[in-house]
Amino acid sequence: MPLDKQFPLETQKQNQQQTQGPSTAPRQDRQGSARDNKSSQAEESVNWLFLDLNSYFASVEQQEQPKLRGKPIAVVPCMAETTCCIAASYEAKAKGVKTGTLVAEARLICPGIEIVEARQKLYVEYHEAIKAAVETCVPITETVSIDEVACRLMGRSEQPVPVARALAQRVKQAIREQVGDTLRCSIGLAPNRMLAKVASNMQKPDGLTVLTSSGLPHSLYRLKPQDIPGIGGRMNQRLMARGVHTMEQLSALNVEQMRILWGGMAGERVWLWLRGADFTVPKSTHKSVGHQHVLPPKKATLPPASPTNAATLRRIASLQYSS
Ligand SMILES: [Mg+2]
Repeated sequence: MPLDKQFPLETQKQNQQQTQGPSTAPRQDRQGSARDNKSSQAEESVNWLFLDLNSYFASVEQQEQPKLRGKPIAVVPCMAETTCCIAASYEAKAKGVKTGTLVAEARLICPGIEIVEARQKLYVEYHEAIKAAVETCVPITETVSIDEVACRLMGRSEQPVPVARALAQRVKQAIREQVGDTLRCSIGLAPNRMLAKVASNMQKPDGLTVLTSSGLPHSLYRLKPQDIPGIGGRMNQRLMARGVHTMEQLSALNVEQMRILWGGMAGERVWLWLRGADFTVPKSTHKSVGHQHVLPPKKATLPPASPTNAATLRRIASLQYSS
């Protein structure tokens, strides 16, 4: 169903006007050419650097075992054909092996793939070494997971785009020199933390992507709504039910429509972040579960494992290794 039918109180024209405000929102880049984009970026600033290690566990194994370099490898939690890969090297990814692929399936689609058992302690040691290398260039504001950190950039010495680009290159070099050649990362630079994370995913491996205020929201149009943090499967279904299938359609929604879709302030926050506003939200404290709410093991039932639920596996693996 078209958007104007889903939100009859607002016309698309009104939406367009509202997406350009408030006054703090960045100006639109109407030129669109790469040359203009680059020259406008040179005068702009970014507030965040987000770093995401590429194929992290697999890269650590390739660093530790030179015979594995340049080869398709998969890291598994235990040596069993029935388990899933929790990481794949870029050589394995090129053949279609992903986080969540069953080992037996990985062997079928990528004959000769090396299966390596995960070494939790080693990945934590590398994590600490990588953080120390990053901090020789820029202070880390937040350790997001075992393979992601976020850094707030400060002042004229870090924020102008050319300076921030050079800083990002120095961070990459520091990791290669101080930790290891195989440790590559993708870095996103952007006006806020969320967009910097999005930017870090836009080019892999070894990427460096800059999103600036003047390029928003057009520079996001080649992404899918699911590429935005917080838009998972369920939220994406809700968006599609309202006719929002593309980033362009998502960007055309006004703040009230976003609030309705998200069911509260979260929608307003995403609306502002997509326009480059820089603010962070304190992490909500996890609710603890009392013993009385936990079923005894014999009564508890687990949902069937889904080999396609790669993101969940990855998150569980990260949490396990970062704790
Ligand atoms: Mg990563």
